[in-house]
Amino acid sequence: MAVKTEAYKEIIGKAGKARLIAVSKTKPVEDILELYKLGQRDFGENYVQELASKQTELPSDIRWHFIGHLQTNKVRVIAPFIDMIHGVDSYKLLAEINKQAVKNSRKIKVLLQIYIAEEETKFGLDKIELQDLLEKYFASDEMDGVQICGIMAMASFSENPHQIRVELNNAKTIFEQVKEKYFYHDDAFCELSMGMSADYLIALEEGSTMIRIGSLVFGERDTHTS
Ligand SMILES: *Cc1c(COP(=O)(O)O)cnc(C)c1O
Repeated sequence: MAVKTEAYKEIIGKAGKARLIAVSKTKPVEDILELYKLGQRDFGENYVQELASKQTELPSDIRWHFIGHLQTNKVRVIAPFIDMIHGVDSYKLLAEINKQAVKNSRKIKVLLQIYIAEEETKFGLDKIELQDLLEKYFASDEMDGVQICGIMAMASFSENPHQIRVELNNAKTIFEQVKEKYFYHDDAFCELSMGMSADYLIALEEGSTMIRIGSLVFGERDTHTS
C-alpha cells in the first residue's frame, strides 16, 4: 500500500499535543481510508472540486481542512461541511466564508494566513494587512458564521534550517502578539498551523499546534499535480 504507516506513527509520536493534518491532495480515497482506520480524523485538501467529491465518498466524522488558496467564488461548495479553512488572507474572503456559513447554519473555523517567507509568494497577510483585517472583523457585528482560531504560515522552501527556524519563530511571535492584543480572553484562538514534511520538526520546536503533512505519510505526489 502507498500509505507510509510507520512514518505516520512516528510523526504522531513526535507531534505530542500538536495535531496532525494529513494532507491527502491528489491521493485516492483508499489511501485516506487506510489512515482513517488507524484513527486519523483530520485531513487537509487544497483543491475545491477534489475535496467536494472525496467528502461525499468518505466517513462523515472526518474533519476536513482546506489548506490552500481559496477563491471567494468557491467558498459555497465547501461551506456545508468544511471544519477549518487555514488560508484566509483577505477580509473579502473572510466575509464570504461568514456569509456561506450563516446560510448553512454553521460556524466555520478559520486561520489567518500570514506572510513570513523571504521568497516571493503571492499569499499571506503582512502585519499591516493582518491588523486591518482584524479591525474590520471586530468592527462588524455580522461575523457570527466564523470563528477565528489562530494563525497559519508557510516558511520558505529553503535548504537552510536556520532560515526556516527564524521564519517560523517569527510566525509564533506574531501569533502571540495577535493573541495578546485581540484574543486575550478568547480560548478558541489557540492554533498555530505551520510545518510540512520538510520542516515539521522545526515547526514543532517553534510552537506549532497543527502540522500539515502530505508526502511523508502518503508518499510523493506527481509533481505536475502538486
Ligand atoms: C501540499 C501542502 C502541504 C503538505 O506538503 P508536504 O510537503 O507534502 O508535506 C502542507 N501545507 C500546504 C498549504 C500544502 O499545500
